[in-house]
Amino acid sequence: MMKTETLVKRIVIVGGGSAGWMSAAALANALEQSAHITLIESEAIGTVGVGEATIPPIRQFNQRLGISEADFVRATQGSFKLGIEFDGWTKEGERYFHPFGHYGADFDVHVPFHHYWLSDHLNGGKAGPLDDYSICYAAAKAGRFTHPNSDPRQVQSRLDYAYHFDATLYAEYLRQYAEARNVTRLEGRVSDVNLDPATGHILSVTMEDGPPIEGDLFLDCTGFIGVLIEGAMKTGYEDWSHWLPCNRAVAVPSESTGDTIPYTRSTCRKAGWQWRIPLQHRTGNGYVYCDRFTTAEEAEQTLRDNLDGQPIADAKHLRFLTGRRKKFWNKNCVAVGLSAGFMEPLESTSLHLIQFAIMRLLTLFPDQEMSPLLAEEYNRLTVAEYERIRDFLVLHYIANERDEPFWKEMAALEFSDSLQFKINHFRQNGVISLDGRELFGKPSWLAVLIGQGIIPERAPGLSARAMSRGVPVETRFAQVKDAIAAATHAMPTHKDAIRNLTQ
Ligand SMILES: Cc1cc2nc3c(=O)[nH]c(=O)nc-3n(C[C@H](O)[C@H](O)[C@H](O)COP(=O)(O)OP(=O)(O)OC[C@H]3O[C@@H](n4cnc5c(N)ncnc54)[C@H](O)[C@@H]3O)c2cc1C
Repeated sequence: MMKTETLVKRIVIVGGGSAGWMSAAALANALEQSAHITLIESEAIGTVGVGEATIPPIRQFNQRLGISEADFVRATQGSFKLGIEFDGWTKEGERYFHPFGHYGADFDVHVPFHHYWLSDHLNGGKAGPLDDYSICYAAAKAGRFTHPNSDPRQVQSRLDYAYHFDATLYAEYLRQYAEARNVTRLEGRVSDVNLDPATGHILSVTMEDGPPIEGDLFLDCTGFIGVLIEGAMKTGYEDWSHWLPCNRAVAVPSESTGDTIPYTRSTCRKAGWQWRIPLQHRTGNGYVYCDRFTTAEEAEQTLRDNLDGQPIADAKHLRFLTGRRKKFWNKNCVAVGLSAGFMEPLESTSLHLIQFAIMRLLTLFPDQEMSPLLAEEYNRLTVAEYERIRDFLVLHYIANERDEPFWKEMAALEFSDSLQFKINHFRQNGVISLDGRELFGKPSWLAVLIGQGIIPERAPGLSARAMSRGVPVETRFAQVKDAIAAATHAMPTHKDAIRNLTQ
């Protein structure tokens, strides 16, 4: 049994954006007052103020904290997200959809649905586009939503979903949650980080005009600047801009127009892409771009020219460098959020990486000795997670056929061996080769591979043979389409689904 005197008893979180408050809430919930948690944030510095689209695992984060979906959606002006529509990512005018959940229905224990579809696609494509077999796509396009069904015989069981929400409201909600669990919040700027000269561990942080705040474990949630992990500890940053060169964004929220659609839209622009995130009370918009191919003024104008409602705030310009901290956990400091790294927001993975960081930290929670092995394992798992996500993001760019210089450069990109391995497998044999711990599963890879026009030379394994077994496959395809259409028709509209939940 662990001696209580060696337990981590004082945790100091610096930063109160999504990373800081998600960390404070989750640690307060998990540690149940066995440690004293202090969070320091500076209103004068503020937060990055974006980050409003998520992926399905966010639901587990809220569930683990005991936050009801109704409370959450109400408090954050949230909406449901069934996937992302990519507009113009192959060429102007072409679209595809990355749905959450699964395609079709498994009608054969040996051959997954998508193998049948690939086989059909390579033999003339009578079954039609892949999107026709996604219940998330059908619901998204119909502006409808329902929760997944747990009956595997029903096509609603193939649906999965996440949320869009107002990040500032989420941080406020989590702040209340954390303060109710005795997290102490201090307002002000950390001006000094005091290191132990012998070990390099952080002993305390000092706020302007304040006494030192000592801790056993420090979480750096200070955003891109990384006040602790970089400013004080000089941990180093691995630059990934040769793979993901977008380095700026401009964001402008706008008034909602029409019904809130249950999906994110990502539209190509000259030097990057524009997001559209529909919330209940407004729409989040932004243009992520590379500054070698456009100016900040031109980017802002492009964004303003492509809003579908009146802007309701000033434009916010942001700079970033894609990549990751060389160590996420260094001595007694763990970087969570943007201080740990950033890959552009194309697949809404940053909030997930915060969630992943907190859950991983809780699994490997240290005592005061701060075993370097724990940090090593944490860093190994986190590096692998970042690299897998990076490859998935890069996949979106490399097969484009657009004419603009930025997009031509992306099409000629030399990408990682790990991504090349996956593309080779898919191109040659239709196999989606994942290592089991991937955040984005086979349906996601399939959606983007096919969506980007990467088509295999042959269908995988048994699919060609299985095409002639039992009930004709055309009948199966038709049954799945009919089931999706009927299930979608029976769903409430997205607006009603939100109202039913929150009233
Ligand atoms: C353009 C863009 C779009 C994005 N879109 C998405 C998205 O759709 N989905 C998604 O999952 N993620 C998205 N992200 C990422 C997401 O915004 C962040 O992961 C998330 O907001 C967490 O930020 P953070 O808390 O790490 O940093 P911040 O929000 O920057 O918070 C930093 C905190 O540290 C405090 N601080 C800093 N220095 C000091 C100091 N010296 N003393 C005291 N306090 C200090 C600040 O006051 C603030 O409270 C996006 C990011 C960008 C740049």
